[in-house]
Formats: sequence, C-alpha cells, structure tokens
Amino acid sequence: APATKDDVFEAIDKHNVRFVRIWFTDILGIPKSFAINTNQLDGAFSEGMGFDGSSVRGFARIYESDLIAKPDPSTFRIVPWRQQENAVARMFCDILNPDGTPYEGDPRYVLKRNLSRLKEKGYKFMVGPELEFFYFKSDCSTEILDTGGYFDLTTLDVASDLRRDTILALDAMGIDVEYSHHEVAPSQHEIDLRYADALTMADNVITYKITVKEIARKHGCYATFMPKPIFGVNGSGMHVHQSLFQGKRNVMFDAADEYHLSDEAKWYIAGLLRHAPEITAVTNQWVNSYKRLVPGYEAPVYISWARRNRSALVRVPMYKPGKEAATRVEYRSPDPAANPYLAFSVMLVAGLAGIANKYELPPPQERDIYHMSEEEKKAAGINSLPGSLNEAIQLAEQSYIVREALGDHVFENFIAIKKAEWDEYRTNVSRWELERYLPLL
Ligand code: GLN
Ligand code: MG
Ligand code: MG
Ligand code: MG
Repeated sequence: APATKDDVFEAIDKHNVRFVRIWFTDILGIPKSFAINTNQLDGAFSEGMGFDGSSVRGFARIYESDLIAKPDPSTFRIVPWRQQENAVARMFCDILNPDGTPYEGDPRYVLKRNLSRLKEKGYKFMVGPELEFFYFKSDCSTEILDTGGYFDLTTLDVASDLRRDTILALDAMGIDVEYSHHEVAPSQHEIDLRYADALTMADNVITYKITVKEIARKHGCYATFMPKPIFGVNGSGMHVHQSLFQGKRNVMFDAADEYHLSDEAKWYIAGLLRHAPEITAVTNQWVNSYKRLVPGYEAPVYISWARRNRSALVRVPMYKPGKEAATRVEYRSPDPAANPYLAFSVMLVAGLAGIANKYELPPPQERDIYHMSEEEKKAAGINSLPGSLNEAIQLAEQSYIVREALGDHVFENFIAIKKAEWDEYRTNVSRWELERYLPLL
C-alpha cells in the first residue's frame, strides 16, 4: 500500500486512476466526501483543498467557515466497487484551518490528539471492533432477507454471497477480516476486523460501513448499522476489544495474575466501569441506541465485568496459553452507529484515568445480571448504564473525561446537537402512542 505522495502518484499511473475521493466525517461520524481529478492532487497534497466548513454538521460557524482538507497519502486505496477503467481511489484527509493548523472540530484530529498523549507514555492503543448489522430489502422497511440465526450455514443464510463480496472488497482495500458469520437475529450479520492501532482502525470502521452498504446496494438490498431496527430481537452492537502495547509487549498481560491481567489492565477496566455512564452518550449516540441497551438481548445494561458472562459490560476473554498478545478488554456497550474516532477517544481516556488514578477493580460478576433482583444488584454494587439519550447527555455534559477526550469544540457542538435531537424526539408523537392511546382515550 502507498505510504507517501510519490507512491500515490505511482499507483495512480499504474491503475489508471482518474478520480480521487477525499473522505472525512462530520462530528457524528457520517461520511463526507468530495471528488477531485487526479491532476489536482499535487496541489491537494501541498496546500490542501478548500471547502465551506459551515455546511458540515458540527464544524465551523458561518463567520469562520473556510477550512482545508489535506489528504493522508498512507490511506490511498482503489475503490473496489467502482469500475476499474478510469478507476476511483479514496484517501482520508485531515481538516486544517486556513493557517495550516489542525482544525479542532475534526473527529480524526480528536483521536490523533488523544493518541499522541499516549505516545508520550510510550503506549500504543490497539483496538478490534466487532460490527453487527442488518440486511433489509430496502431502506424504507425492515423486511428481512433471511430467517437464519447465530452461525447458521447457507440455504437459510442467503447473505453468504453478500458477506463474501464484502470481505473481498475489504481485502482489496487492505482491511483484514478475522471472522464473519450470521448473527443471532434474522437477517443480522457480523464481520470482525483484525485488530490494529486505533487511528487505522477508526478509518477502517468508516471504510467497513461504506463497503457493507455499497456491496448490499450492488445486490439490490440495504445494509443498516442502526442499533435496534427491530423490536423484540437482538440489536446491533460494536463490541470493542482494547489493549495497550509498549513496543511488542502487551501491557495488559501478567503471567502471574489469576486472570492473567496486569495492574494496568485492571485499572483500565476500572476506569471504563467508573466512567461508563458519562461516555455512553458518545459510544451510543442516537435515540435508538437506548432501545438496544435493554435486558434480554445480549447487550449490556448493568455496569460490571466478567470473563464468560455476556450480560457484562466489560468481558475479559479467557487467556489461551501462548497468546499474550491477545490479552484484552472487550467493552460491549458501543454500537456501530457511533463515530469511531470519538468512541475510541472516550474509551481510551476513561481507561487511562483508571490507570493514572489506580482505580480499584471490583470483583468479576459471573452471574446473569439480567436475572438478578433489584436488591441483589444493589447488594453487589451494580449500577446501570443511562437508560435514554437524555440521561446520557446529562451525564456527558457534566463529565471532565468526555470534555478532555473530545476537546472543547467537539464537546460543545456534540452536546448541542444531541440535545436538539432529544428535543425533537421528546416532542414527536410516535406510532406506538397512537396505537396505544387513540382507541382508548
Ligand atoms: N447483538 C448483541 C449486542 O447487541 C451481541 C451479540 C453477540 O455478539 N453475542 O451487543
Ligand atoms: Mg462476535
Ligand atoms: Mg456478535
Ligand atoms: Mg463480542
């Protein structure tokens, strides 16, 4: 894969690339893009391409609207679902102010800034997300393609070809896939990416979502990362496996510990648990996200950790001998409709707060918490995640961790956008209300 500007020009010649799409995301992680002719690329690399930042949600205000997009040559890839004659390539870009300094409203910069603080400590943040999604017949209904279930094989799983083409496309873009399978709910699927450093992975998550949707469209259907599209069955999560590395050493691993977890790992988990309520607005950013975080669907509701128990918020996969590098923490509340740049940032800062302050880790909770009574949960000191976007926003707004992780600009814009979303939802009259109340009242 190209790494420098010169490599990019070489690849452009070799593959007859005519257009380059410049990718970035708005504050909520919605992909944004514009295309440039390859003969414009030299200027894009040296000066960047100007655009109107005030038209991008959560970016600049109207009186400071000029922003610059500067492509990152290491992210140059041919787009495999487009024709290969006069091919199209894509590059992620960084957003800059007119004076060339990083624009603090750029989610990619937010993550970069958090990672550079980590570098001072000599740590590298590695993440492996598991994104689940649904295939529907179109984007205007939840009509399913199959009635398969967890790990079901072919005939029932008519989406095998869809997943296969998706994995081939991801592969062509340099993204390693570890597993793919049918998920628990009908028409629900999962493709797991091999872990990578957090910035690469956040870019990969954006690419993954675009790729899944594009390939679905080619097959005449629609793929969605909406957290809970169908009432009564599992929603779609994005469990995030996390570890810290110092060179080749996995900082999370300790051979002598009963769980094979180092002190750092335990503090990190304690940081995630303590700050979980306040970071949830970022890891679960939509009204709909909270319809997933309810008991009974393998999604976390209560704040606890465990090794086997999949109702826990944090799971530590069992250690396999010789697999030190795989020692990691799985944080299970995020959903795939989060902005990965911001979600990785808040999880990291929460975990690091645990390390910096040596938070004490409570004992693991291996029982099924869904079935514990209120008294039992209280006695075990088990709290809940916020139950609605509204609750989550209120907790985030008070949070030093979230403000530090996002920076003032993104923090304030994020809270304002989310409050507006909640207000719109709160005042809307839903179908549920009409069906329930109209015949009765
Ligand atoms: N779909 C579940 C969730 O919402 C996870 C199911 C699983 O991967 N075991 O998180
Ligand atoms: Mg999985
Ligand atoms: Mg899964
Ligand atoms: Mg998982």
